Amino acid sequence: MLVSMGEMLRKAHKEHYAVANFDIWNSEMLFGVMNAVEKTESPVILAFGSGFTANTDIYYYAKMMVERAKKSDMPVAVHWDHGKNMEVISYALDCGFNSIMIDASGEEFEENVRITKEVVDKCKMLGVPVEAELGHIGPETKYEDLLSQYKYTDPDMAAEFVERTGVDILATAIGNAHGVYTSEPQINLDILKKVSEKVEVPLVLHGASGISDDIVKKSIDMGVAKINIHTDLCLAAMDVINNNDKPYLKLQQEVTAAIEKRAEEKIKLFGSNGKGRNPFQPASENASV
Ligand SMILES: [Zn+2]
Repeated sequence: MLVSMGEMLRKAHKEHYAVANFDIWNSEMLFGVMNAVEKTESPVILAFGSGFTANTDIYYYAKMMVERAKKSDMPVAVHWDHGKNMEVISYALDCGFNSIMIDASGEEFEENVRITKEVVDKCKMLGVPVEAELGHIGPETKYEDLLSQYKYTDPDMAAEFVERTGVDILATAIGNAHGVYTSEPQINLDILKKVSEKVEVPLVLHGASGISDDIVKKSIDMGVAKINIHTDLCLAAMDVINNNDKPYLKLQQEVTAAIEKRAEEKIKLFGSNGKGRNPFQPASENASV
């Protein structure tokens, strides 16, 4: 069923597990992930973003995502990832996304607040929850280069940012990066802990592929309720493709199965398995965060 990401994440935050946000852009990813979701009885966030539009026409793919979500007994949110401006977000809403991220984290603080607040005001009228980012993770690049100019989330500014913008969910920059880590991830959990003490909204960990299971579990304990995974799904697919000489028809089935297996591992690591059963609690319980 299609549900609100805000409600889904407030429940996860309260119960100390995280919901997987799988960034997907093809049939193998969509159906592999949903097989894992239904097998593990987990809530899930199906996400898509501007980085995939060269591969997939979102006008059609959004319909596949939304229809697959509606067909499931499990709670599913369909989320636009890293929307840079209102034009992109308006198109995503028109396509049927019921949750969005505005990412103006590359701007200065005041401009990030202004752009984010504008999007929150529009989305609130439509009942669409909004994620935003403070600090700046940035695009895929060599990890050592990224760290040399990294903008970590400032805990005090995070409190001000959430209060002034009214965002539902906050993405943090704590040494995490997009793509494959070219050296050991340097995740600063002290910053995460301070941010979680300053804000009440659920936190998000982007670029979680390649971060150790131990760090992932600690981040969940510190208030992360949404964890973004893309690269690990791609790596699972490439493992099959690189070691295979089967016809494409058969190969595609094996890729879907490999993605299902990797998604299942992540869901269990995040502790959301079994949490998709009876997802709707009385309103009074959900309103407590
Ligand atoms: Zn991201």
